[in-house]
Amino acid sequence: MKAGSGGESMTEPGSEDWTFACPCCGEPNEVFIDPDERGQVVVMDCRVCCRPIEIVSPLDPNLPPDVRAEDQ
Ligand SMILES: [Zn+2]
Repeated sequence: MKAGSGGESMTEPGSEDWTFACPCCGEPNEVFIDPDERGQVVVMDCRVCCRPIEIVSPLDPNLPPDVRAEDQ
């Protein structure tokens, strides 16, 4: 759906910034979960150790994302 513009909140329901611990170094990172990307895998680099991290957005917004190191 299109929300248009002019809303006071920049965050739509179901979209959140998640804080998680890097599986490699344990440092906290933040990732923005787009509601359109639920159920998909997002890869980002840890801001501390720069290793690639896979974040699996849960289909259920009540569940936390599944975080794992891309490097196996
Ligand atoms: Zn790290």
